[in-house]
Amino acid sequence: MIRIYNTKERAKADFNAIERGRVGMYVCGPTVYNRIHIGNARTFISFDVIRRYLMWRGFQVTFVQNVTDVDDKIIARANEEGRTAAEVAAEYTEAFVADMRAAGVMDPDVRPKATEEIPAMIELIEELVRGGHAYAVDGDVYFSVRSYPAYGELSGRNVDEMESGHRELRAESAGVDVSDRKRDPLDFAVWKAAKPGEPAWESPWGPGRPGWHIECSAMSRKYLGLPFDIHGGGADLVFPHHENERAQSEAACGCTFANYWMHGGMLQINAEKMSKSLGNFMLLHDVLETTRPQALRMLMLQTHYRSPLDFSEERLAEADAALVRIENAVRGLDWAVGHAQDVPSPLDTRTLIERTRETRTAFVLAMDDDFNTCAALGAVFTFVGEVNAQVADKTVSITDVAALKGARQLIVELMGALGVSVEAPSAQEPEFPAEVAELAQKWAGYAGTDAAGAVEALLAARTQARKDKQWDVADGIRDGLAGLGLAVEDTPQGPRVSRA
Ligand code: AMP
Ligand code: ZN
Repeated sequence: MIRIYNTKERAKADFNAIERGRVGMYVCGPTVYNRIHIGNARTFISFDVIRRYLMWRGFQVTFVQNVTDVDDKIIARANEEGRTAAEVAAEYTEAFVADMRAAGVMDPDVRPKATEEIPAMIELIEELVRGGHAYAVDGDVYFSVRSYPAYGELSGRNVDEMESGHRELRAESAGVDVSDRKRDPLDFAVWKAAKPGEPAWESPWGPGRPGWHIECSAMSRKYLGLPFDIHGGGADLVFPHHENERAQSEAACGCTFANYWMHGGMLQINAEKMSKSLGNFMLLHDVLETTRPQALRMLMLQTHYRSPLDFSEERLAEADAALVRIENAVRGLDWAVGHAQDVPSPLDTRTLIERTRETRTAFVLAMDDDFNTCAALGAVFTFVGEVNAQVADKTVSITDVAALKGARQLIVELMGALGVSVEAPSAQEPEFPAEVAELAQKWAGYAGTDAAGAVEALLAARTQARKDKQWDVADGIRDGLAGLGLAVEDTPQGPRVSRA
């Protein structure tokens, strides 16, 4: 049974899907006025992992993520750059999609854009006005917080305390208060009257644009129906964004909005939240220039999604090294399987098969417990260590092949469930550099261009040279490979080349 920490309950609860075998998930998307930073990416990667795991557990997941493509910040950037807000939003929407794909995040099933969903928002606002939950003032429309008694429940706030806080703030700022138009200082805008030069849409209250919160209320309802299973976002969205989304949606429909509210912890740098406004951010796009996406994801997986994550270059390098350990184990297993011989088994295959089964169980238990990726990875690493110890320096028997393939398959499958591919050597880092072909031409008369073929030819030539006691040739090959960062290792199965 999967258990999920529900922000609303401030506790873990069993996950019961509304419709058996199906999950509807809505994760708030970005405001597209800049490329996203790795803090934003953390939240999106966390929910990608959650989505993939639910799929791996057999759920059919419908994943919806909006793009906020009309907003004050987009308009401000457009004004600064002498462009239209639509141009700015189009540029960064495209960049967002590209960045997410580069990070190995699956495309959502639906990616609605706010500007294309205005009719659904107007419809929802009209329902709120009709129901006495919203009121229009000179072209603006405000949600009446006091009309929804459960306001504050999600974020654990008390409405009366919030109200007095507002009053003090107002007294301090001596008079000039833009919220004077509201009936209650707690009320918030669901529709904003157009200001000159701003993008605007026709509405029953005059030209204007939607408030941020109403977007998500309208789009989630349209694409998932109410209630839906999981609503997610970063912890910084709990208040006011999600509190307000919930208030609007539940006030309008008189039903539950989302059953499980999930919030990801913040990515920090030097113990401070990474944010566009603090200026301490690193763009995902820039980080992925020098880091492979699986390594960034490994870093994310090493911390539970709800905990803060301290980012540093060192931790990123460590995550990459951890990934290499898993990749090497998979390659080691392939090597062992490829070189199995008709000899008595040197392995404890019974234990290997048993541990393969136990590792799967440990992984599932960890992930079922509110997606504890950290413990799940721990299970994989323990297993990888055991497999390495069993297989190292041994000529395995053909009778071991099935157990070894089972172990390999498990590692690849479990990492895949987290969205980390450990099978193919990454395109950025080919197994052998292309220059080995030249080296093979020199020492082995190799005429091809394939690097793996060249390595095979070099090793064959070296073996022959050693047999013929041509030490200068054997050493020349070894030194040539070393010059390319490759080491020759003599194993019982024959020589093998790996990155030094
Ligand atoms: P925004 O474009 O600011 O609305 O942010 C998009 C998503 O990124 C939201 O789900 C935020 O909660 C999330 N987010 C923003 N900053 C961070 C951070 N430092 N760490 C993790 N998530 C973040
Ligand atoms: Zn939202």
